[in-house]
Amino acid sequence: DSFLTMNISRPIIKSLTTLGFHHPTPIQSATIPVALLGKDIVGGAQTGSGKTAAFIIPMLERLLYREKGKKAAATRCLILVPTRELAVQCYDVGIKLGAHTDITFCVVVGGMSIKSQEASLRNRPDIVIATPGRLIDHIHNSPSFTLDNLDILVLDEADRMLSDGFADELAEIVKSCPKSRQTMLFSATMTDSVDELVKMSLNKPVLLFV
Ligand code: AMP
Repeated sequence: DSFLTMNISRPIIKSLTTLGFHHPTPIQSATIPVALLGKDIVGGAQTGSGKTAAFIIPMLERLLYREKGKKAAATRCLILVPTRELAVQCYDVGIKLGAHTDITFCVVVGGMSIKSQEASLRNRPDIVIATPGRLIDHIHNSPSFTLDNLDILVLDEADRMLSDGFADELAEIVKSCPKSRQTMLFSATMTDSVDELVKMSLNKPVLLFV
């Protein structure tokens, strides 16, 4: 299997080469072609499977073809993760994969200054990586932050976000997103509450378990 047969753009192929990612992992082979078609996805994937790149590559592809040099009017992609550590890991992967693009990222997590995050959000980052609680704070209190232009929503480690007590926050965030969007949900386990979240947030998802 090869990234080269997946219709991935040159700037991203270049980053993959720099990272030493020569072949897609099974979750990447399964997810990327389907995600590039704009379909909703439920991915059964553990940490360590390479799922971060599996959802960030399709995001970068979507954003690459926005008007060159022009900033988006508002954030286009949102990645929700259960912990600050995962948010930072995700950010690192994003920055590296997007190194040859002008796509911008922002991390919005608890335990850090709200004010400085607000300032970062005012720059209209293309991709926001957030924990649910802190994102809700910004939806309520940061006047310039909106999800109205969102194209892609990722719910990463959904089982963990739910068991950490974020069900209400997730429901509110999903309701704040436009109906016409792509949603990808990843979970190591499929519990009843994950299933409920899938029903609430995804539209005819393709199920990918590797
Ligand atoms: P993740 O499951 O997204 O946390 O990724 C787990 C680890 O696999 C990370 O250290 C990645 O850098 C690495 N990785 C992801 N995709 C690939 C790939 N296609 N080839 C080699 N390593 C990869």
